[in-house]
Amino acid sequence: MIERGGGDAKWRDGKTAVYVFNAGPELSQVQHEAYGLYMAENGLGPLAFPSLAQMEKEVISMALGLLHGPEGATGAMTSGGTDSITMAVKTARDYARANGRAQGQANIVLANSAHLAFDKAAHLMDIEVRRTPLLNDGSWGMDVAAMEAAMDADTIMAVGSAPNFPHGLIDPIEALGEAAARKGVWLHVDACVGGYFAPFARMNGVPVPPFDFEIPAVQSMSADLHKYGYCAKGASTVLFRSEALYAHMPFDMDTWSGAPMKTPTLAGTRPGGAISAAWAVMNHLGIEGYRGLQGLVCATRERMEEGVKRLGFEIVGAPKLGLMAFSHPGAHPFAVYGEMYRRGWFTSVTKEPPSLHLMLSPKHADVTEQYLADLAESLAAVSEGREGDRVEARYS
Ligand SMILES: *Cc1c(COP(=O)(O)O)cnc(C)c1O
Repeated sequence: MIERGGGDAKWRDGKTAVYVFNAGPELSQVQHEAYGLYMAENGLGPLAFPSLAQMEKEVISMALGLLHGPEGATGAMTSGGTDSITMAVKTARDYARANGRAQGQANIVLANSAHLAFDKAAHLMDIEVRRTPLLNDGSWGMDVAAMEAAMDADTIMAVGSAPNFPHGLIDPIEALGEAAARKGVWLHVDACVGGYFAPFARMNGVPVPPFDFEIPAVQSMSADLHKYGYCAKGASTVLFRSEALYAHMPFDMDTWSGAPMKTPTLAGTRPGGAISAAWAVMNHLGIEGYRGLQGLVCATRERMEEGVKRLGFEIVGAPKLGLMAFSHPGAHPFAVYGEMYRRGWFTSVTKEPPSLHLMLSPKHADVTEQYLADLAESLAAVSEGREGDRVEARYS
């Protein structure tokens, strides 16, 4: 099996900065052991496996504790960010319909930097997507006025990201919350990549603005455990301000030949391992463990920022967490990407503006100098016009 992966991206060496979150062998062992113990169990059956139901409940409670969930807030574990987002959109739509809104063609309003999982969910549910352009003042931030202007009586959800994936920037959720409240629109905060990072960065002194249930207009959130929660893959959380909102999520049916069944999320069968591993990792790390890891990632991002700036790159906006994008006035970032790829680095790119993209893990602390040295070489190769075949940057 290990040999089969010989041609894969070298994530164990820290040479990927997308797809994998590498917090080292100790955490990997916690994931393996806890996942293996519940490999056969099925989260579909909480009555058969009350221990899994209890673990899920505790995971949700830890999530709400971190994200200022008010009394009565609740949620569920899902298979990932796309699943969480799909369920949040579905819940908001059913809530809107139950309350006399969106009687026509339902729509959702989001900035261009929001994740495409919302478009996928909207496609599945025949919902219109209204994307607003980003500010062109050099900040690449969300245009809250444009977001508000796009909301109407058929808007079932407005979306803010904390942070977004392309730039790693946190949207102005407070201002967006005021706009959503004025329009009577459900606000979802997509904290898939930041939900288990931003609270710890804040504890470490990073000036993270309010972005979660602390803001009254925020009705739901998505936060992925299998990203900066460092849990095994197949684990995310979708959270709601109240039981009354959550009540629109589960699918409950008794009119078929089989037994009546109620499922909270998109899945039927739910892998017990993803739940047990998440519970184990969260309890293993605790607040202090997460603070340490996220502090290391923030420090690594700062070193990376300084290093790429020395090479003439410009950081897109002012990232505060583990993601960053950077462009170059003299060399096309996609050409530099191709050179880095030839040197064994598998990272991502951002299209708007064209830039290189890094989603950093604790492991990258060990390889920052190596990355920057290869980046300097790659930049020189591109500037001198001796780049190898351009690699088409595509991720599927
Ligand atoms: C990763 C991500 C998602 C989607 O999560 P998956 O687990 O890949 O389905 C959604 N939003 C943001 C901001 C993300 O970074």
